[in-house]
Amino acid sequence: MLDKFNRKINYLRISVTDRCNFRCVYCMPAEGVKLMKHSEILTFDEIVETARIGVSKGIDKIRLTGGEPLVRKDIIDLVKMIAKIDGLKDFGMTTNGVYLTKYAQKLADAGLHRVNISLDTINPEKFREITRVGNLQDVLDGIEAAKKAKLFPIKINCVIQKTEFEPDAVEVAKFCEQNDLQIRYIREMDLEKGQFWQVKGGEGGACKTCNRLRLTSDGKIKPCLFSDLEYDIKEQGINEAYDDAIENKPERGTINKINKFNNIGG
Ligand code: SAM
Ligand code: SF4
Repeated sequence: MLDKFNRKINYLRISVTDRCNFRCVYCMPAEGVKLMKHSEILTFDEIVETARIGVSKGIDKIRLTGGEPLVRKDIIDLVKMIAKIDGLKDFGMTTNGVYLTKYAQKLADAGLHRVNISLDTINPEKFREITRVGNLQDVLDGIEAAKKAKLFPIKINCVIQKTEFEPDAVEVAKFCEQNDLQIRYIREMDLEKGQFWQVKGGEGGACKTCNRLRLTSDGKIKPCLFSDLEYDIKEQGINEAYDDAIENKPERGTINKINKFNNIGG
């Protein structure tokens, strides 16, 4: 799929749930999180059909995200279903890593190629502060499990305030070097204020070369993270929603007042 600005769109990020076992300060409020009704959340069949039609239109890279994708019930079954789609070249997941001790091998067996794991600090107290509820060791164990399951290359998403030279980021970088992990620095963004930056070590945030579409867990195809535009696969049909998303993909991001990171998946 080529959009109006001649960008080749081949990457679909699928948010499989807006729920999460963490409450990261930059992503979700501590309490009173507005969650989607279960009845609004796409079924596996709806997700797979959307992925399949996307692949038939030129998508060859899919990433599952959330919320936390590993809290979605029977996630391994969904991974198996998507992995079977012919033409998919790159199939990854972004996770906070906690449930990888339980699921890494099952994910690999189901056909997932690789994982990105979020880790902003290797200081246990700071980790608890950032995630509000998380236990650092769970994530470190999760990373080990991902290595054992060979979900390579394993990339670490490290949220920074301004630069990669902040002490926590420097420590995470050292940890990555010692453990054969690739680090990507994501400067903290604000959807509502329209503050976004290019991901260092990754491809996100670069409007000129943006190759992405997003599918929210309630079935909206979004052509841009930093825009309110969305096309409902249930109301319009999947094909139409894709066509509209491609046709209207903005040249560059502005602001997004209707989504939060946990329901659009970053
Ligand atoms: N729960 C999974 C995780 O944390 O990896 C997947 C979903 S999370 C929304 C996806 C990515 O978005 C994570 O790497 C997270 O650090 C990042 N993220 C969340 N809120 C952000 C914000 N305000 N600015 C920049 N990145 C953010
Ligand atoms: Fe959950 Fe990921 Fe958001 Fe943290 S960044 S609250 S782990 S969805």
